[in-house]
Amino acid sequence: MFWDREIEALPRPELEALQLARLLRTVRRVGEHVPFYQTRFREMGLDPASVRTLADVRRLPFTTNADLRASYPDGLVVKGPEQVVRLHTSSGTTGKPKALFFARKDVDEAAELIARCLVMAGASQHDVLQNMMTYGLFTGALVMHYGAEKVGMLVIPAGPGNSERQLMLMQDFGSTVIHTTPSYALYFADFLERKGIDPRKDLRLRTGLIGSEPYTEETRQKIEDALGITVFNSYGLSEMNGPGVAFECSERNGMHIWEDDYLVEVIDPETGEPLPDGETGEMVLTSLSREAMPILRYRTRDITSIHREPCACGRTHARIERITGRSDDMLIIRGANVYPQQVERVLMRFPEVGRNYLIRLEGLDEMIVQVELSGATFDGQLEHLVRLQEQIVEKLRAEIMVRPKIELVAPGSLPVSEGKAKRVVDNRKL
Ligand code: ADP
Ligand code: ZN
Repeated sequence: MFWDREIEALPRPELEALQLARLLRTVRRVGEHVPFYQTRFREMGLDPASVRTLADVRRLPFTTNADLRASYPDGLVVKGPEQVVRLHTSSGTTGKPKALFFARKDVDEAAELIARCLVMAGASQHDVLQNMMTYGLFTGALVMHYGAEKVGMLVIPAGPGNSERQLMLMQDFGSTVIHTTPSYALYFADFLERKGIDPRKDLRLRTGLIGSEPYTEETRQKIEDALGITVFNSYGLSEMNGPGVAFECSERNGMHIWEDDYLVEVIDPETGEPLPDGETGEMVLTSLSREAMPILRYRTRDITSIHREPCACGRTHARIERITGRSDDMLIIRGANVYPQQVERVLMRFPEVGRNYLIRLEGLDEMIVQVELSGATFDGQLEHLVRLQEQIVEKLRAEIMVRPKIELVAPGSLPVSEGKAKRVVDNRKL
C-alpha cells in the first residue's frame, strides 16, 4: 500500500537525478539568499556553481547544532519572496532553543511525507489516531497531525500525559493508532495493567507509531506485547521538518528515509570523513526541498548506518538502521565508553524487568542502575530478587565492561517525563 507509489518506488537513477536537481537548486538558493552560507562558502573558497554532482555534497560545509543556535532567531532563513507561515522550536537543554521556520510548501511537504509513512504502516481513512505527543512549539505532534488529516484519519489531539483521559478517549472514540514515545508507551501499558484493562479485549488499538527518542528492539517487543499492537519506528528531527524523515515499512527492517527530500550521508564523527554504505557512524542530512530554511549537511549526531539494497515492500528509498544512540550520549565510566542503549538492551531481555530504568552516576565514577520490576512476574521473594540482581550485574558487566550497582525498584516508581525520557543522571564529582 502506497500513498504516492510513483515517488516512493521511483527507480534509483531517476531518484538520484531528482536529488541532484534539488541539491543544485538548494545550494544556489542558500548561496544567494542566506548570509550564513554565503560567509561559509567564502571562507572555504567554494564557488557554489562548481557543485555539479551528488558526490560534490562532500565539498559543502557542515551545519551544526551550534550553528543553528548562533544564528537564532532567523539567521538561516532564506530572504526570498516565499511567505513564511509557521515557527517551531527545538528544545534546548540550556539557553535559547533552535528556531525552525516553515513556508507554506514546507508545511505541505511535511504532511505529505507523514501521509507516506502512515499508509506505509497500514493506516487509512478508517483509522482513528490518538496523537499523544506534545503540541505547541515542538514539531512532533503538529506535523503528524497535519499528515494524518491528509490521509483522512480522525485525529484526536490528546497531547501527552494524563493517562486517565488518554484511556477515556481511546474507549469513547475507538482509537486504533497511537503516536507516542517508547517511554510513555511503556508507562501507559503499566497504567492499563494497574487498572485491570486488557488492551486486546477492551481497546481497539492496532498500531503504534513510536519514536522521538532511541529505543531498542527489545523495548519494541515489550511495547507490542504489553499493548497488543504492531510498533513502527518513526524518526525525525525538527531541523528537517520534524517527524516523517524516516519510517519503517511492513518489513520493519530499517526505516525508509525519503531521499527525494533528504540527502543522507553517514560519516565518521571524529574525522568527518564519509563512510561506505552499511558502516555505522553519524548521520548527516541535507534538506533538498525545504523552502524557508534549507540546511546543508546537518550533523544529526544520531548513530546509524545506511542500506540501499532493494526492499521487499517495493520502495526504492534507502533504509537507515534503528538509531543506536547519539554521539553525544556516550558516557565515559571508569575509562569505558558506554551508551545508555546498551544498558537498555540488556535490561529489557529480562522478563522480570519492568518498563523503566534510570542510570545514575555518583561520587567518584560509581554507576548505579535503578530498574523497575515487572508487576506481573514479581513474586516478592527476597532470594529471587537477589539472584535477579546478580544476573543483571553479570550481563551488564559483559556488555559494557563496567560493573554497575543494581537497585531493583517497584513498578511505576521511577519518574516519567512527558517529553523525552531522561535516562541518565550524572552527579559525579570528577
Ligand atoms: P522531535 O520534537 O520530533 O522529537 P527534536 O528535534 O526535538 O524533534 O529531536 C530529534 C532527535 O530525537 C533526533 O535527532 C534523534 O536524536 C531523536 N529521535 C527522534 N526519533 C527517533 C527514533 N525513532 N529513534 C531514535 N532517536 C530518535
Ligand atoms: Zn520497505
